[in-house]
Amino acid sequence: MATANMNGQQVLILPEGSSRMIGRDAQRTNIAVAYAVASAVRTTLGPKGMDKMLVSDMGDIVITNDGATILEEMHLEHPAGKLVVEVAKAQDKEVGDGTTTAAAIAGELLKNAGDLLDQNIHASTIVKGYRAASGKASEYLKTIGEKVDPKDKPTLVKIAEVSLGSKSAGVGTSKSHLANLVVDAILMVADDKGTSLDIDIEQIKIEKKEGGSTDDTSLIRGIIVDKEIVHTGMPKEIKNAKVALVDTAFEIEKPETDTKIEITAPEQLTAFLRQEEDILKSMVDKIAATGANVLFCQKGIDDLAQHFLAKKGIAAVRRVKKSDMEKLARATGAKLISSLDDATKDDIGFAGVVEEKKIAGEAMVFVKECKNPKSVTLFIRGGSEHVVNEVERACKDALGSVSSVIEEGMYVTGGGSAEIELAEKLRAYAREIGGREQLAVDAFAKALEVVPKTLAESAGMDAIDTLVSLRAKHNEGLKTFGVDVHAGKIGDMAKIGVIEPVKVKRQAIVSASEAAEMILRIDDVIASRGRPQMPPGGPGGMGGMGGMGDMD
Ligand code: ADP
Ligand code: MG
Repeated sequence: MATANMNGQQVLILPEGSSRMIGRDAQRTNIAVAYAVASAVRTTLGPKGMDKMLVSDMGDIVITNDGATILEEMHLEHPAGKLVVEVAKAQDKEVGDGTTTAAAIAGELLKNAGDLLDQNIHASTIVKGYRAASGKASEYLKTIGEKVDPKDKPTLVKIAEVSLGSKSAGVGTSKSHLANLVVDAILMVADDKGTSLDIDIEQIKIEKKEGGSTDDTSLIRGIIVDKEIVHTGMPKEIKNAKVALVDTAFEIEKPETDTKIEITAPEQLTAFLRQEEDILKSMVDKIAATGANVLFCQKGIDDLAQHFLAKKGIAAVRRVKKSDMEKLARATGAKLISSLDDATKDDIGFAGVVEEKKIAGEAMVFVKECKNPKSVTLFIRGGSEHVVNEVERACKDALGSVSSVIEEGMYVTGGGSAEIELAEKLRAYAREIGGREQLAVDAFAKALEVVPKTLAESAGMDAIDTLVSLRAKHNEGLKTFGVDVHAGKIGDMAKIGVIEPVKVKRQAIVSASEAAEMILRIDDVIASRGRPQMPPGGPGGMGGMGGMGDMD
């Protein structure tokens, strides 16, 4: 195996046991694998898409409709399969929505490239054509997009609804409730820069607890801390809370090494204990002097200190995560206190209410009704763990979608309408450039149509008929016609309010194209030894070609 031949002499260039696949074989295998992977997630596309149940080797079950989650949970081994997973992950990270679309388009681009390779069109020609087409598609998206004001709440809610709507499990009838919460959350944490809004999605914390129904999901103008108030003698509900955030311990520092204190008289013991007591008491006094009635401490709080705090009527929570401390600061306006000696009332933040509540049997501290909070919490409820998790994924998609549209300020109609329009425009562009690249641009256009095609199939419509009638509508200038999956026929997406951010669409197309180009450029797959061998028959096997993990 793995030999190179020059002047008739065989030389060994790879270690024994390595395997290698070159030229068309390598391309065929990679394409087949990537396509198989993309096909596996494609059927989840849109509101009528099916869900997948993924069972891990530990028996854990995930039920989802989310492209990125499915691909991640598949734990693919084959490098070409992994590249498709990367597309979805990148999409998830960049824009938060459109992961299935990105994977589906990538699969289709590769399948069509395979056909072109069979017609003896060189991979580099295809890559060039794809790159040109992807650039053009981005341009066209701008021309067909509509502008949206970042403060136009009804439009933002519609975009959130479309994003949420494709995950039916759990979201169901709560779609409009959740969409409103998502938009409110974003608008609350957004920094107003006059004409634009700056959004840091990290400032929207998601907490979830099973129980109740999805309709009980709420937006907290503040933070939920998954801890309890430390002492039973402390108040459990504080109105007009003055919040202190401290990152040092309310404990006496114990020496590192074993130290012995010799006590010979009872008075000495009392004096010693009194001294400890005094230190803790003065710590509590310093906090009380700031006017605080709620204390969040990043470190521990000694029992005695708890007792003193309770006596002062201060509610305290200990061992709060650093990330939560930072969010509490943004929500309440409090400043982190590192040295109690320097603590003043200027360090204190405000919350309308701080209360400990038992949710599904567990205590949680709600810091809510903050004034103009720059950090908020989406508190997700639902009938079961699976529902809560899927609602969380849906909300994350919607948060990504809405912040994307605010960032770029443009949307297009969905339901495959934008893809049909882009495909038609790309076909016209292909005719302009001519030559072999024309074929690649045409193949790209066809690949985009996987979106309306899949949506039609999911709604039980005939895919080919649907594409034909949609193209006809678009040629008549009806650019917003797409697949109305609920009605089971084609319709005007602008009318039924199926709209999506331009940014999500563009990212899906560009990253799909980049992945396809990367896979097409590979003509040599070398798998190092010591890993399982390639299975006989190679091409077509999904995940079977373990052992090439070193390639990525
Ligand atoms: P992705 O992971 O790519 O976001 P989704 O399952 O969320 O996949 O499906 C998104 C697709 O579904 C988009 O093309 C969008 O336009 C389409 N879609 C969403 N809602 C509707 C609807 N009510 N009618 C038709 N198409 C819809
Ligand atoms: Mg989506």
